[in-house]
Amino acid sequence: MELEHYPFQINEQGNLTVSEVDTVSLVKQYGTPLYVYDVAHIRKNCRAFVDTFKKHGITAQVAYASKAFSSIAILQVVHQEGLAVDVVSKGELYTALQAGVPPEKIHFHGNNKSRSELEMALKHRVGCIVIDNFYEISLLGELLEVYNQEVDVLMRVTPGLRSNTHEYIMTGNEDSKFGFNIHNGQAEQAFLEIRNHKQLRLKGLHCHIGSQIFETEGFIKATSMLFSVIADWQKRYQFTPEVMNLGGGFGIRYTDEDQPLPRHEYVEALIEAVKHHVEQIKIPMPEIWIEPGRSIVGDAGITLYKIGSMKDIPGIRKYITVDGGMTDNLRPALYQAKYDAIVANRANDARTELVSIAGKCCESGDMLIYDINLQKTDQNDILAVLSTGAYGYSMANNYNRFTRPAVVFVENGQHQLVVKRETYIDVVQHDLSYLK
Ligand SMILES: *Cc1c(COP(=O)(O)O)cnc(C)c1O
Repeated sequence: MELEHYPFQINEQGNLTVSEVDTVSLVKQYGTPLYVYDVAHIRKNCRAFVDTFKKHGITAQVAYASKAFSSIAILQVVHQEGLAVDVVSKGELYTALQAGVPPEKIHFHGNNKSRSELEMALKHRVGCIVIDNFYEISLLGELLEVYNQEVDVLMRVTPGLRSNTHEYIMTGNEDSKFGFNIHNGQAEQAFLEIRNHKQLRLKGLHCHIGSQIFETEGFIKATSMLFSVIADWQKRYQFTPEVMNLGGGFGIRYTDEDQPLPRHEYVEALIEAVKHHVEQIKIPMPEIWIEPGRSIVGDAGITLYKIGSMKDIPGIRKYITVDGGMTDNLRPALYQAKYDAIVANRANDARTELVSIAGKCCESGDMLIYDINLQKTDQNDILAVLSTGAYGYSMANNYNRFTRPAVVFVENGQHQLVVKRETYIDVVQHDLSYLK
């Protein structure tokens, strides 16, 4: 593992540090498991996107996909950096509002928005609703009439990309639960329905092709698909988009197998693709919106665990068990996601042992890392799993009635608790007694 790719250092004691703060001392103060974020790195990730659009003179919105990690503190940071925020539920919307994100900078997503979710979005006058399906057009249309209100909308389309050559977490393919299909006429039908409703202000199209994508080709292809539709609607219906939202999914480094492009390269490829098509069909340049989630917070976070039991099965495998697992990082169990790790209190030692890192849940599938070369470890050592900043805390759960870990932000050598560790009182708080 090449530490230079991560926002972490090693101090004189051989301990892993985040922004000069010793992770071993963080564990002493806050306990384990513990999520720790380097806030300067989050800001750097935000700026890589925002500044590239600025540099090229493109009007843009970078919307943080808050499902990657939603909490009041993180939404305050990304809002400070000028990002908008994507939400997909009342809970995410509520969190964004509590963080002080102005409603006009909130975009509401989701493939089954309920009446009450749409009501909440309208009541708070969110900036944009991304319409996903026919049911939503009629439901939203009906509510707008009741409230005598108008709203900006985008239409989510599935470009029908079939290139399976890369392992995207595909969402833009034809057989997808998301969005309107552009090949079978459903997108056009939806377009006409939306245009017919005076209270729906159609700003443009949205597509999101997948996640953890390492090249620009898929984005460029999707952009072409969208513009072939736009060219058609321009000719037949005089529709000119004000916004093209090209989604998120920019890849990050989890292990050395991952070779993500620098963030500005994704943005530049998108700008170039949009410019090319705009010139071809002779329409004004629309705003470009993107929706990075993972690439804002993923590589800025680590999880610290305490090492407990070890089990050496000679000739088979050596298990090292930590005091967390699929309750704080579901991704390995959910889709065999790979991670890298380092023994935080022996960070300078050579990696001499081949081991596998197990979680402590009662599931054989609760394995965090298979076959990693690690520093020789002992009980009570501290293991840091890297790049856990996205879809870690946000997917955390109470399986086995474990309490969700705390989250600490570190910046300029200072650390601050931003999400408290759950307590056992929290765990039973919704339970009701059955004894009469
Ligand atoms: C999940 C999602 C994103 C963010 O994906 P990342 O891989 O975290 O960047 C953006 N847009 C939509 C519509 C999504 O569903």
